[in-house]
Formats: sequence, C-alpha cells, structure tokens
Amino acid sequence: MARGATRIEVLERVAAALVLDGTVAARFRARALDLARAEGFGHAVITHRLVPLDGPAGAVLVAGGEAFHAPRLLPESGDLTGLAFGAATLGPGLPERVSALFAERQMSLALALDAIGNLMLLEASRRLQDAVIAGVRRAGLTMAGELRPGDPGLALEAQPAVVRLAGGEAIRLTVTRSLALNPPKSATVVYGVGRDLPAVSWSRCDDCRSRPTCRVVRDAALPVPA
Ligand code: SF4
Repeated sequence: MARGATRIEVLERVAAALVLDGTVAARFRARALDLARAEGFGHAVITHRLVPLDGPAGAVLVAGGEAFHAPRLLPESGDLTGLAFGAATLGPGLPERVSALFAERQMSLALALDAIGNLMLLEASRRLQDAVIAGVRRAGLTMAGELRPGDPGLALEAQPAVVRLAGGEAIRLTVTRSLALNPPKSATVVYGVGRDLPAVSWSRCDDCRSRPTCRVVRDAALPVPA
C-alpha cells in the first residue's frame, strides 16, 4: 500500500446493522452481502493530512498553496491555525461490479450492492474522522467544523485541491473533469484545526436543500453497533 494510506475493514460493521428479514428486498441485501464478501469488497482505504495555514485566517483560507473560500470554518473563539484534509474510497471494484450487474439486468442485486457500498463509504467516513481527530490531538490541537466540496459552505471547485492536500494520490483517488471523484464510491472532507476551538453548533447539512431526501443523512441515521 502507498505511504500515507490506511486500509480498513468496513463491511462487517455494515453487515451487523443490516436488516435481513424475510422480505424480497432483504433477500437481495443478503445476496449482495455474500457477493461483497466473496469478491473481497470489504475494505476501504483512507488518507488524511494536517496542513498549517499559509497566512492569517480569513474568509479565504490558504493552506498548502491552495485557497478555500470557507468562512464557516472561522471559529467564534480560539485560533484557527490549519486545515485537516481527508479522503476515503472503496476503490474501483465494487462500483464496477454494480455496473456489471446493471448491464446483466440484475437490477435488484445491483441496487442492493450499491446501497451496501453507500453504507460502507459512510462507515469509512466515520473511521476517517476518528483518524483525523486522533492525529489532531497528537499534535496538541483541537478540531471543529466539517465541510465537503459541493456541500453548502465549500464550492465543488475545491475538490481537486482537497484531494491533493488529503494525499489522494496515495489511495489512487482522482477528480474527473466534471469534478466527480473517481472511483465513485469515495468521499473527501475538510476540518478546521487550531488552538482552543469551540464546538460548532452548525452542520454542513443545515442549509442544504437536498436534506429532506439526502441518502447520506438517511444512512447516517441507521444504527451502527459499538
Ligand atoms: S444534506 Fe446531504 S447533500 Fe446536503 S450537505 Fe448534508 S450530506 Fe451533503
């Protein structure tokens, strides 16, 4: 594995939380789970880096030579001294298998595997956040505020810079010309880092028009065993 990348198992925690009752949908979920296990789709890779600000904190934050218009990250107190960048991906295998199942017209199985992939990516994002928090604490700093390119608070155009500063190369994560992540089951994130940062009372989802139908919000509400 490339330097800076960490491989984590994410399928079994997702599997433990899946509802596998006797419904037709549940039977496809069980088949998709078996397929994911049999074909080795249980892992994600993550990478994260803590990057000091190049200058004083303002509405535009400059770190690692990249500028981010992200005034929401400015804290009400304390000192914002850097940004933490993170990225996670399930790799190309699972999305390619979903596409192949669609091409074979196995729609229900494809949708079930895709849904499991979404839950796996959510679990990878949680673990990525844990890893970033641990790194920030080791540096004697605090962390507050989370933004993702394309969500309210950070333009999608920031995606290439976020991928670069997170160390996306180490996990073979790239950005397409339309600013989508490749492989598609991937996520990036930016956190504010500094001294004595207060807990934030906002969420990147607060003002989002997609919230009522957002799959990420829905999936995040699913129970995950400790
Ligand atoms: S509601 Fe969904 S789409 Fe909107 S910011 Fe939150 S996660 Fe992103």
